Amino acid sequence: MVETVPATGAKIIAVTNQKGGVGKTTTAINLGAALAEKGKRVLLVDIDPQGNASTGLGIESSDRDFTAYELLLNEVAPQQVIRPTQFENIFVVPATTDLASADIELMANEQRSFLLRNALRQPVMDEISFDYILIDCPPSLNLLTVNAMVAADSVLVPLQSEFFALEGLSQLMLTIRDVRQAANPNLRIEGIVLTMYDGRNNLSQQVEQDARDNLGDLVFQTKIPRNVRVSEAPSFALPVISYDPASRGAVAYRELADELLSKNAAVAA
Ligand code: ADP
Ligand code: MG
Repeated sequence: MVETVPATGAKIIAVTNQKGGVGKTTTAINLGAALAEKGKRVLLVDIDPQGNASTGLGIESSDRDFTAYELLLNEVAPQQVIRPTQFENIFVVPATTDLASADIELMANEQRSFLLRNALRQPVMDEISFDYILIDCPPSLNLLTVNAMVAADSVLVPLQSEFFALEGLSQLMLTIRDVRQAANPNLRIEGIVLTMYDGRNNLSQQVEQDARDNLGDLVFQTKIPRNVRVSEAPSFALPVISYDPASRGAVAYRELADELLSKNAAVAA
């Protein structure tokens, strides 16, 4: 019998790729928003010191008294750091530039790789009862990203449909292997999602072909198109599915949510 996913307990997904500008934050926000629209309770944990996910969901910098930094250090309870947003079913643990120094400060801490896991897997989190926790990682394979991978059930990798896209993946896969060996044997790869895809561009098609040839089923069928509405939405502090619900970007992120939900349902069955 296949082990079933427990009825309680959120699925924790680290959205990660050590390259910057590949669509991690955009995917965390919009996949989260699409899951929330489908009635799932979603927590987005922002662990990038740039705090773009927090800003993109309308949490002002002046409104970030407690952040992922305090959560990691166990200085505050989750209830104090989890913020509602203006969107139903979406909550945020915000980030600030404080996190930039965490990487070095935490080095001396014996539990340094387990801090986020300890924070997100404490019993009170079940009471708050999320369906999905998405962690928006910084553009690096640093201690914060390792914390996300140790805390997570799976890793979701946005892959920009550009030259050199696949180049960094082997390093990422090695890090996943190391995390499995050292700390989190059950860490899975949720999938690789092609972002900023332009079907008229040969390069996008080539990247897709290479990704599917090399990574097979790990690559989501859904591709996120390059779409100006996606890039405009954060400046209005809105997910694209609220900013322009009929845009190609919004449609694609809803499809990605459906694909993820049906994959997860198949695993649980
Ligand atoms: P990361 O978090 O990996 O650094 P971002 O999600 O911040 O990447 O995306 C980098 C830039 O690309 C942002 O300006 C974002 O608005 C833009 N972008 C992301 N996805 C798309 C898309 N599908 N279409 C157009 N622009 C996009
Ligand atoms: Mg980002």
